[in-house]
Amino acid sequence: MSQEEARAWHSRAVNQVAAELATQVENGLPEETALARLKEHGPNELQEPPRPTYLKRILDQLNSFVVIILIVASLVSAALGDWVEAAAIMAIVVLNAVLGVVQEGRAEEALAALKKMAAPDAHVVRGGHRLSVPARELVPGDIVLLEAGNFVPADVRLAESINLKVEEAALTGESVPVQKFADHTLDSEAALGDRSNSAYMGTMVTYGRGRGIVIATGMRTQIGLIAEMLQSFADEKTPLQKKLDDLGRTLGIASLAICGLVFAVGVGRYLMNPAPGSTLVEAITELFIIAVSLAIAAVPEGLAAIVTICLALGMSEMVRHHALIRKLPAVETLGSATAICSDKTGTLTQNEMMAVQLCADGQMVGISGHGYNVQGNFTLDGQNIIAAQRPVVNSLLWGGALCNDANLEVTGEQDLQPTYRMVGDPTEGALVVAAAKAGLWRRQMEKSYPRVSEVPFDSDRKRMATIHELRNVTDDDPSPFRSKDQGQFYVAIVKGAPDLTLALCTHQLRRKGIAPLTEAERAAILKANSAMARDALRVLAVAYRTLDSVPAEPTAQEIEQELVFVGLVGMIDPARPEVKPAIEKARRAGIRTAMVTGDYADTARAIANQIGLLRPGGQVLTGAEIQDLSDQALAERVEHTDVFARVSPEHKVRIVEAFKAAGHIVAMTGDGVNDAHALKRANIGVAMGITGTDVSKQTADMVLTDDNYVSIVSAVEQGRIIYSNIRKFVYFLISCNLAEIAIIFIATLLGWPTPLTAIQLLWLNLLSDGGPALALGMEKGDPDIMERPPRPPTEPVINRDMLSGFITQTVAITTAVLLAYWAGMQYFSSLAHADKVHTAETMAFATLVLSELFRAYTSRSERFPLFKLGVFTNKWMQYAVGFSATLLFIVIYVPFLQPIFDTVPLTLAEWAAIVPLMLIPSIAAEAQKFIGRRMDTRKQTA
Ligand code: ATP
Repeated sequence: MSQEEARAWHSRAVNQVAAELATQVENGLPEETALARLKEHGPNELQEPPRPTYLKRILDQLNSFVVIILIVASLVSAALGDWVEAAAIMAIVVLNAVLGVVQEGRAEEALAALKKMAAPDAHVVRGGHRLSVPARELVPGDIVLLEAGNFVPADVRLAESINLKVEEAALTGESVPVQKFADHTLDSEAALGDRSNSAYMGTMVTYGRGRGIVIATGMRTQIGLIAEMLQSFADEKTPLQKKLDDLGRTLGIASLAICGLVFAVGVGRYLMNPAPGSTLVEAITELFIIAVSLAIAAVPEGLAAIVTICLALGMSEMVRHHALIRKLPAVETLGSATAICSDKTGTLTQNEMMAVQLCADGQMVGISGHGYNVQGNFTLDGQNIIAAQRPVVNSLLWGGALCNDANLEVTGEQDLQPTYRMVGDPTEGALVVAAAKAGLWRRQMEKSYPRVSEVPFDSDRKRMATIHELRNVTDDDPSPFRSKDQGQFYVAIVKGAPDLTLALCTHQLRRKGIAPLTEAERAAILKANSAMARDALRVLAVAYRTLDSVPAEPTAQEIEQELVFVGLVGMIDPARPEVKPAIEKARRAGIRTAMVTGDYADTARAIANQIGLLRPGGQVLTGAEIQDLSDQALAERVEHTDVFARVSPEHKVRIVEAFKAAGHIVAMTGDGVNDAHALKRANIGVAMGITGTDVSKQTADMVLTDDNYVSIVSAVEQGRIIYSNIRKFVYFLISCNLAEIAIIFIATLLGWPTPLTAIQLLWLNLLSDGGPALALGMEKGDPDIMERPPRPPTEPVINRDMLSGFITQTVAITTAVLLAYWAGMQYFSSLAHADKVHTAETMAFATLVLSELFRAYTSRSERFPLFKLGVFTNKWMQYAVGFSATLLFIVIYVPFLQPIFDTVPLTLAEWAAIVPLMLIPSIAAEAQKFIGRRMDTRKQTA
């Protein structure tokens, strides 16, 4: 058999495929077999290209304009015989490259870990149980279950297909979904696009359900064969990163111009007044190296790496708070979010449904119980009632449990009572449990009423239908049928939103049989529905109809008509207790929360009230009303609307657009297949990690791993913290760079020797400042970070405040350093020339390094005074500052380093002279914050 033939699974019957892969379509592989096969076949993933080697990465680091200049400078020094300087510059170049590789590695690791977390799960049957396993653990022979919204996790030969439609654009380029048929057997030559009995990895289920046998995994899948790699995580740069890149470039060019000027002034000065004992070449070399170091000093080399690390660490922090960022720019957008549109079910509520009230045959029946526990009683007017007293209620429970995809699985036994676990949608689970409380077990009923076809649920129709064969109906059956009805062959059961379902009913099931539905009865049922909804219950209706035959391709229109109404089920879905304070927190931060739900307006309003989402005067808008509004009218209404009820996915898109038109930066949640469009249109699309479909997760910017609204608010908070931290170290690093340029430029103009040597500048920029800058990136955020309004999205990073900060700091640092240098020259005027210069240089260097370390503390907040933040509340700052200060003392006091760094050991008197100077920049920074706060308060009172 050729390899191609061996792969032609589509030309075999299902049982033949199952036999060859030694698996069972019903029960799947035993767990041990799956494990053994995983070892044999390897993980089900597409391989990514190998990471570049360390050597290559180090060479990449060296491949930058700045580093090349440094290397040239080092070579020039070596050529001139200054071996110490040449070696020192080279050592710094290498150290910087290694640090760069380490930093990049850390950032990459963090991103890779996040990517792994975003990888999809697959639903499989193993050892007879339905399980959810990471898609990478699938093996040939596994039985996977496919549902609308899922990605096909491996190549499969279908064993079952119910209205299954798959979009295969990833593979064939054809974006119209194709229908799949498990029972087809095809020619072995059939082209990929024609293999209607198979589904392939990376394609997407858009409708219906199916079950397939895995025939190929990983690189042996069709997509693995044609694509080397599938990148699902976009390695985009954020707008901020792009802006900072631009800023770096501008600074680089400006500094080069200044370097040229310094160089020209220096040479000109030498020519006019040659220094005794030095040749022109020596003077030019010295100037060349100073000019080069100035260029290095002015370019914020560490900035880009620190931004990346800060973003990566911030994203890991967000993961701890259950928010997984899929697209990097979202981190920044989160910080300026002004509105959150949240689903209700599961996001604001717990999604642990329990049916508590039934309405059938004009009676309101209560159900007691606890969660998914199957113990509970049925009550009428407070009295327990037995099965015989509630025949229509039993039919309601029967219909609700059969038109259902959830399952109660036995997990063990406690005190001789079996314990259960709910698998499936909680809304449906509540119905299965309610039926079990009446002794009606879904699995058993399915034997008498096997499902033969269905029209799956969709959130536009807001209902679903299943078709069952009538087999062995008995007189004590809970269904509306009796043994005399054996002539009827099929029953279609419909369950869904009450108003829409009731509109399709023409009859009603009563204790005495089926009766036409009068208008008065219809009104009474709707009234009962509203009453239940106002009690915050989620209400579903159940109806049915008999059929003579089953259509090959049943459509909703065909099936869902002339129905017999059975009753209503009301279930509670308690609000998440933590949501109320989170909504309040968002509100204080200037962020509105709106509920967008498919559920009934009354239910939505009741829950919105409970959780404090509905503001006084806040309105409720329904999908039907949205339909009648123009886009502009809707944009005007959103400002006053807190609840959007009965909406379909297409309304969600309009709501997002309306919020945007009203000037909002909006985060919108979604979970269904049809929500993808709204998620894409929102500024921040948020998908549900637990209940969400793969499609929604793939489109979203952010995935909530716990489906909880609270996690959105924490993510916004983190987004704000990350952005403000980036601002802090941009301010810290760039003001230092600006000051260095100013120091050297002014000294040159004054005709002084250069106060800072090339090596000292390199040392400061590449080593000493990096740690504190990184520590600023780990700040916890100002205490009032969620008390302030959102940042306007168009505001540049370097805004007016930061510009005035730059000016103050440049003046303060330059003054401090030049004063220290001047004091050094004056104080030691009687000493030999070389020592005098080295002392002054050391004093200038120590003043600059230590003033940076003091400034690092005041840069921890842009508005709060340091004593209010607590001086020692960021432990990373202590480590970073301690490390940099130690480095400084080593450079000054370790004798063999002194000639390299042109330093001399400072005396106590010299320290006494410079300590007050090194405090000038921090005092200036605190004073500026103080004035800023005063002006803010004055503005507020005005
Ligand atoms: P949210 O959008 O807040 O999550 P939701 O779950 O009500 O709310 P959808 O899932 O779109 O939104 O459901 C819309 C409506 O469809 C529900 O209000 C309910 O009436 C009906 N419905 C939901 N789930 C089912 C189901 N499994 N079977 C039948 N009808 C359902």
